[in-house]
Amino acid sequence: MDFNLTQEQLQIREEIKKVCKEFPDAYWREIDSKKDYPEAFVRKLSELGWLAALIPEEYGGTGLGITEASIILEEINHSGGVATVCHAQMYTMGTLLRHGNDEQKRRYLPKIASGELRLQAFGVTEPNAGSESTRIQTTATRKGNRYLINGQKIFISRVLQSDLMLLLARTTPYDELKDKTKGLSVFIVDLREAKGKLEVKPLDLMINHHTNSLFFDGVEVPAENLIGEEGMGFRYIIDGWNAERILVAAEAIGDGRWFIERAAKYASERIVFGRPIGSNQGIQFPIAKAYANVEAADLVRYQAATKFDRKEKCGAEANMAKLLASEAAWEAANACLTTHGGYGFAVEYDVERKFRETRLLTVAPVSNNLVLAYLGQHVLGMPKSY
Ligand SMILES: Cc1cc2nc3c(=O)[nH]c(=O)nc-3n(C[C@H](O)[C@H](O)[C@H](O)COP(=O)(O)OP(=O)(O)OC[C@H]3O[C@@H](n4cnc5c(N)ncnc54)[C@H](O)[C@@H]3O)c2cc1C
Repeated sequence: MDFNLTQEQLQIREEIKKVCKEFPDAYWREIDSKKDYPEAFVRKLSELGWLAALIPEEYGGTGLGITEASIILEEINHSGGVATVCHAQMYTMGTLLRHGNDEQKRRYLPKIASGELRLQAFGVTEPNAGSESTRIQTTATRKGNRYLINGQKIFISRVLQSDLMLLLARTTPYDELKDKTKGLSVFIVDLREAKGKLEVKPLDLMINHHTNSLFFDGVEVPAENLIGEEGMGFRYIIDGWNAERILVAAEAIGDGRWFIERAAKYASERIVFGRPIGSNQGIQFPIAKAYANVEAADLVRYQAATKFDRKEKCGAEANMAKLLASEAAWEAANACLTTHGGYGFAVEYDVERKFRETRLLTVAPVSNNLVLAYLGQHVLGMPKSY
């Protein structure tokens, strides 16, 4: 058992810290208040190759593992930024990498690696299906050498900031299926060509997340953009879930560390009743407890990442890491807010922004209830709740 990061991993952390210093709190605060996209930050990360961490070297990426990719995202959140603005590229790209054909990989991966093309959008969720993804209704109907997409999606992030979107759509009606996990297919949708037939309506949310409702009205997708086999799309999406959960866990760890550091510093400096508020156990202990929980979650995150990189089964660890890390970050967020008193609500302290941002990680990209359902059913063998 070795709990130490390698020299290379430590160096990656330092490099990301250096980049993030160029994008301080004020940068993220302004982006948040204007509901902008952090274009300069994402461009910089792409130029430096960090968003291509998981793309193999033969396609122009850096060919790193999920452990390294998770360190990159963790440090972004730890610095005060928000990695969700660019994390999807890392895990959506995995579906193309694992299940795309050679021609698709040659066509898209080098351009994604160089930053020339952005694949930051991932279209699964629908209003009438919610967490039950096998119930989605958006259809892809084959007409000669293309598919026509019709239907509606909700909560689809970064569509306006992406060139490409990975889309899950129905190719066989639900009622005709014996196995309900079949009949769905994954497509690469070139958003630049979908204009006029794809309506994108931005949603007004509690956080700045560039999230939209989508309405497809006969969007044409060339048949060559189907990934893998028709009808197997749900399987391909599931294959990416462990990577997604590990990366999201790392982001939560980054948030947790940010909250704890800010809270500990403020608690040591703020004098009330003639002494630092951190000398009161009512302030100190919640911070210390959150710290212990973030550190514990981090161990499970590295266990999951190590197993993933060794190509071992890691469903249980990846799900536990996501659950524990997002809850620990939320605990740290609350301790930090309480520590800051009224100032926790003041925009200039950044606590309220990070507080809103970290809350999302308990709900999306997957709700912790469904993570618990996975553990209860697939790990502990209890009956299904759905
Ligand atoms: C900011 C944001 C960005 C998002 N970005 C994307 C994106 O880019 N692409 C995309 O496809 N989706 C995206 N999503 C959607 C997200 O993945 C879903 O919101 C999430 O998976 C839950 O679906 P739902 O909102 O329809 O909740 P529902 O499925 O309606 O569930 C509501 C609640 O009930 C619980 N629940 C449901 N069934 C059970 C059960 N059997 N047992 C226990 N509890 C249950 C859920 O866990 C949840 O807490 C985003 C969401 C948000 C908020």
